[in-house]
Amino acid sequence: MKAIQLIILSVFTLSTLTMCAQKNNNNIIQITPKEYMTMGYNELTPEEQRVILDKGTELPGTGELLENTEKGTYVCKQCDKPLYRSESKFDAECGWPSFDDEIEGAVTRLKDADGRRTEIVCSNCGGHLGHVFLNEGFTAKQTRHCVNSISMKFVADKEKELQKAYFASGCFWGTEYFFMKAKGVKQTNVGFMGGNVDNPTYEQVCQQNTGHLELTEVIYDPTVATYEDMVKLFFETHNFTQTNGQGPDIGPQYLSCIFYSNDKEKDIATKYIRILNDKGYKVATMLKPKSTFWKAENYHQQYYEGKGMSPYCHKYTAIF
Ligand code: FE
Repeated sequence: MKAIQLIILSVFTLSTLTMCAQKNNNNIIQITPKEYMTMGYNELTPEEQRVILDKGTELPGTGELLENTEKGTYVCKQCDKPLYRSESKFDAECGWPSFDDEIEGAVTRLKDADGRRTEIVCSNCGGHLGHVFLNEGFTAKQTRHCVNSISMKFVADKEKELQKAYFASGCFWGTEYFFMKAKGVKQTNVGFMGGNVDNPTYEQVCQQNTGHLELTEVIYDPTVATYEDMVKLFFETHNFTQTNGQGPDIGPQYLSCIFYSNDKEKDIATKYIRILNDKGYKVATMLKPKSTFWKAENYHQQYYEGKGMSPYCHKYTAIF
């Protein structure tokens, strides 16, 4: 229904635009109806336009997503709207990706121009997807969405899961300053870990008897950056040989420590400590299993960014 509403609205708006353009000759914007319909959407190649806009069909057996069996979501090539989940995909041996169900509300059925078949389009942008066939006996749902691979993009589930890493390297203002600017990092938070008091305040931790370390929670996109990248940045932005704190900040809450979340992270951290030892550094960094992250008070978050200042006890030094 949405697609039909969109078409009606677009035709109405297009005629209004044309009228406005006629009224003011100084501000005429020349756009074709096709350009108007695709404003704000992804740019399409000529072959994608042939299928998605002109309702063409790709050659059977040629689509990139035909054999794809990974877990994830198939989204509209033109507007990125999720259309199908991988759980609905099955092999109909027809040469096009087949699904026995759509994501609710994502696909609109229309009577095909040939008068026989049922066309399917993206409910959001009206882009042509393919055709739907019923009662063929392939799956219990008795439905086959026969979709042009070129009309879709695939987003794997694992690509969407952001990872969290935890690094203590002295005053958390300085640790966060470098991580928040790093490639692939989506978010950072500063707080405390490793102590024996729940939800400690900054004042409590400063009394040096709670056992917590100041640290930064780094939330990053693993398809853009790796845990190794994070570990390298950690070592390159503080003095990991200092045994009593960091720079002028002396005390147990300022010690250097990597809190690992799993064996893989532990192995990577261990590897880099070995590399540094081999380079002649006497590494003081501790390795500890991750425990509860207690977020610090709001005024500590993104401290230097908020003040427009630079760290006093952290600086970047290229090592690797
Ligand atoms: Fe779409």
